[in-house]
Amino acid sequence: MRSDILVIGGGIIGLACARELARQGRRVEVVERLHAGSGASIAAAGMLAPLAEVPKPGPFLEACRASRDLWPAWIAELSAETGLSIEYDASGTLLVAHEADEEAHLDKVAHAAAAVGEAAEEIHHDRFREWVPDASPGIRRVLRLLGDHRVDNVQACAVLAAAALAAGVTLNYDVDVERIELLDGGGAEGPGVRIHVRGGAPREADHLVLATGAWSGRIPGLPLLPVRPVRGQALLLQGVEWPWRGCLRSRHGYAVRRGATGLLIGATVEEAGLLAQPTVAGIASLLAFTRHTLPGLDATRLDTLWAGLRPATPDGLPLIGRLPGQPVWIATGHFRNGILLAPWTAREIARQMTGQEPSGEAAGLSPSRFINLPMESEAGSGYTVHS
Ligand SMILES: Cc1cc2nc3c(=O)[nH]c(=O)nc-3n(C[C@H](O)[C@H](O)[C@H](O)COP(=O)(O)OP(=O)(O)OC[C@H]3O[C@@H](n4cnc5c(N)ncnc54)[C@H](O)[C@@H]3O)c2cc1C
Repeated sequence: MRSDILVIGGGIIGLACARELARQGRRVEVVERLHAGSGASIAAAGMLAPLAEVPKPGPFLEACRASRDLWPAWIAELSAETGLSIEYDASGTLLVAHEADEEAHLDKVAHAAAAVGEAAEEIHHDRFREWVPDASPGIRRVLRLLGDHRVDNVQACAVLAAAALAAGVTLNYDVDVERIELLDGGGAEGPGVRIHVRGGAPREADHLVLATGAWSGRIPGLPLLPVRPVRGQALLLQGVEWPWRGCLRSRHGYAVRRGATGLLIGATVEEAGLLAQPTVAGIASLLAFTRHTLPGLDATRLDTLWAGLRPATPDGLPLIGRLPGQPVWIATGHFRNGILLAPWTAREIARQMTGQEPSGEAAGLSPSRFINLPMESEAGSGYTVHS
């Protein structure tokens, strides 16, 4: 049966959009090349960090703050729908400075916090040592961002997939979309979209949501979206017994609590194409950060290493909204903030798909900022792309 909406991509963004749209009564199908949350979404650290990530007042910071504020109620809903829980912590983030230039960064973040009314407090050295006993004595200043939280994104993806199913979404895994065709009345049931999949029959729907993360610029049939993969490597330590349950970060890396004794260390930011693998150099840089910032962890057990591909755009902002004149909505390019922005993105896509204007927070995020209409592109898709 033809769906109302086909969502391509079963990462946190595709799943969040699918669940939201199904809850509005739409018939929604997700197609995912691998399995739920197999891309960047399970590689992430799970920081919900508007201020540390976007210390610049403006609509994008407002979108990040709005999404952070949506997370607790979203978790409660997802848990009620599935009976499953998601680890969430609101202790905040400790922004630490070793050097003078890092102190300047703390000042900038504190300034941004004050400008938008977010709580930030200087933490006395003794208190910091109590919370994080393995920290370097060379840390000269600590700023606590009370509004930068964290979530276990691996759990969130699993629970979200279960919630999407409970909402009536059809989840199709092992479906690799090779090409998208825009139907101009020539489809089995009129205008819409048809997707061509590797080794299977084409599927049609009235509308399409593209949520293919770092691969979003690579599916033929749509305008060439300027999304590129930016690799991030991370590792997990086990056996960390700190009183501090939140995040800790400097300009060179971060440490995020996970589970009872886990500590996730991240992350590299590398232009490495589609190679989602940890490397000697990448892991060495994470260990260097760990030894410099948290030297007391030298004997701690190194548990797991991994890498993921962030979807990045030329201006660092996501692509959220409709392709002009087409039954296609884009929800990608979330770069370092896709976990943070998942509930907001789902709400925004659902809002725009029901014919409402983009919210003020979505100002500047429309994919049409990179697409000139109606000129012919070389690929003949009817669009050209500028960046
Ligand atoms: C190391 C690391 C740390 C991070 N830390 C944080 C953090 O702390 N906080 C935060 O907010 N964000 C963080 N991020 C960023 C965040 O992970 C991403 O922004 C987010 O996961 C993007 O979600 P997505 O659903 O768009 O992409 P993905 O999770 O990559 O999902 C896209 C899906 O589309 C599927 N797909 C692609 N092409 C096709 C096709 N042709 N056919 C079918 N399926 C297809 C893929 O298989 C994939 O499952 C981090 C990222 C990394 C790598």
